[in-house]
Amino acid sequence: MGAGPLRLPESATPFKSRAPVPYSRQRIGLEDWGTLGRASPSLQLCPSRSHKVKQNEVTCAPVPFTADDHQFMNEALAFARIAFSEREVPIGAIVVREGKMIGRGRNRREFLADPTHHAEIEAIREAARSAGTWRLEGATLYATVEPCAMCAGAAVNARIARIVYGCADPKAGYCGTLGDVPRDGRLNHRCEVEGGLLAEESAALLQLFFRARR
Ligand SMILES: [Zn+2]
Repeated sequence: MGAGPLRLPESATPFKSRAPVPYSRQRIGLEDWGTLGRASPSLQLCPSRSHKVKQNEVTCAPVPFTADDHQFMNEALAFARIAFSEREVPIGAIVVREGKMIGRGRNRREFLADPTHHAEIEAIREAARSAGTWRLEGATLYATVEPCAMCAGAAVNARIARIVYGCADPKAGYCGTLGDVPRDGRLNHRCEVEGGLLAEESAALLQLFFRARR
């Protein structure tokens, strides 16, 4: 990699805000990065049943993400874009409680040489600092990519009520893909999990990052 910040090409704007689309609980995993935008729209993976379904065939109940959910996920995406410009894997996260953003984070693993410095950890730490307590009851964690086992564990430890993520991560996602830490009934706290919000934008940003790195 050469020096200097990565620039988003003017022509590639897959994550510019689009007209609000009612996203369903569609999973767009990392394996789909290479085909995003080119894949036939007639087939898509149904998350709850993991079999291919025809477009318009209603097999998954649409998740009623609210306008606030969209707005907060767009904030998380803004932090993912900052990470992108810093040559970090572009993942962003924010923590919201009572309608207010109390924690923000982006992946800074490379810069800080810290394997635990994921976007969600940074956001949870800032939220706890601003709340003045480690208990973030009633809070929602928005992450542009499905949280890993460590971040899902941090959310459970922080007593976060709800996790909303963008695209699924088949290599590290532990909120339903490889495992399900937040909804493990043996733990003393569980989080609600909803995935697929602005998934295309999140995945497109990752796709662009890894393409630029090659
Ligand atoms: Zn993580």
